[in-house]
Amino acid sequence: MAERIIPLTDHRSRTLQPPLAALEAATRMSATGFLGDTLGRPLHDLRISVTDRCNFRCSYCMPKEVFDKDYPYLPHGSLLTFEEITRLARLFVGHGVRKVRLTGGEPLLRKNIEILIEQLAQLRTVDGAPLDITLTTNGSLLARKAEALRAAGLQRVTVSLDGLDDTVFRKMNDVDFPVEQVLEGIAAAKAAGLGPIKVNMVVKRGTNEHEILAMARHFKGTGVVLRFIEYMDVGATNGWRMDEVLPSSEVIKLIHADMPLMQLEPSSAGETAARWGYADAQGRHDRDAGEIGVISSVTQAFCHDCNRARLSTEGKLYLCLFASSGYDLRELVRGGASDADVTSAIGHIWSGRADRYSELRSTLSPDTPGGTRRVEMSYIGG
Ligand code: SF4
Repeated sequence: MAERIIPLTDHRSRTLQPPLAALEAATRMSATGFLGDTLGRPLHDLRISVTDRCNFRCSYCMPKEVFDKDYPYLPHGSLLTFEEITRLARLFVGHGVRKVRLTGGEPLLRKNIEILIEQLAQLRTVDGAPLDITLTTNGSLLARKAEALRAAGLQRVTVSLDGLDDTVFRKMNDVDFPVEQVLEGIAAAKAAGLGPIKVNMVVKRGTNEHEILAMARHFKGTGVVLRFIEYMDVGATNGWRMDEVLPSSEVIKLIHADMPLMQLEPSSAGETAARWGYADAQGRHDRDAGEIGVISSVTQAFCHDCNRARLSTEGKLYLCLFASSGYDLRELVRGGASDADVTSAIGHIWSGRADRYSELRSTLSPDTPGGTRRVEMSYIGG
């Protein structure tokens, strides 16, 4: 029997149409009743990189020495169009995706990104709910764009900010961009109704750890959730060293000594950040003071419930931030493949997923696949 697979979205009906039976045999289900990978992890989050360009040169992501004017950035024609992105997102949603995060490079550099957001905002999850659409930005263009992004249907933003001191900030992002303008972007996002707003600070020992307390004090009680990210060996160009990693346990100890903290429950499965709330005098969570998060890919890996897929700027599907290769969905899309075929391809790819790099990091040697030839974070988004 020719293997012509019908889209998985039919799966909810449970009235299995032939050849769906074949499909079920071919793909795994997770506890959600939707597609699962080899570890039973559902496909819940889709991160979409809309550009490989950025106006910052953060040393842990796009070091200036590598990403200079001669770097082979992608030609515009090879980028997925908004229509192609929306079509692929729709097919991923059919597999159970509920959250879409727009990333880059710097996604706000992609011209008319509001149009893409409007298109994505039309999509509905398999049970008819609006998609959770969010975006990660360095905040440099946010003050100008916040209102339009909100009007287009964006719900939330995550802003990268690695310090409040301009000198430190410059040292981390390697461009002469003032902190003040990023803070204005955060304020504009708040005023536009984008929220809850998260701020991500990558902590690099020896560079900006002395900014941790200042950042925590600055955002405490503002409703903004500050997350501290352990410096990671993403890509193959940031010269990562373990002795420049400040474990999250030390970040928590440092803040707790100054502003007592208490651990909070995860707010959803697959959440990357461990949540810590500011405690009141009775040791209860002081909700007005808010919470912080730590993302500890190096010292406390969270691959066991990682439900994130990544779509690169030119349409390759990556199954892990530390992957070394992806699956070319653009070829399918531009090759005239039907929705059923693309859906089936996504299903098969995810079903075979076994990625858990962070859990294996310490056992990997340089020539192990995924050892050094990792894809650049600026290409698939953080
Ligand atoms: S290392 Fe890969 S599998 Fe593990 S949490 Fe990160 S993206 Fe997921």
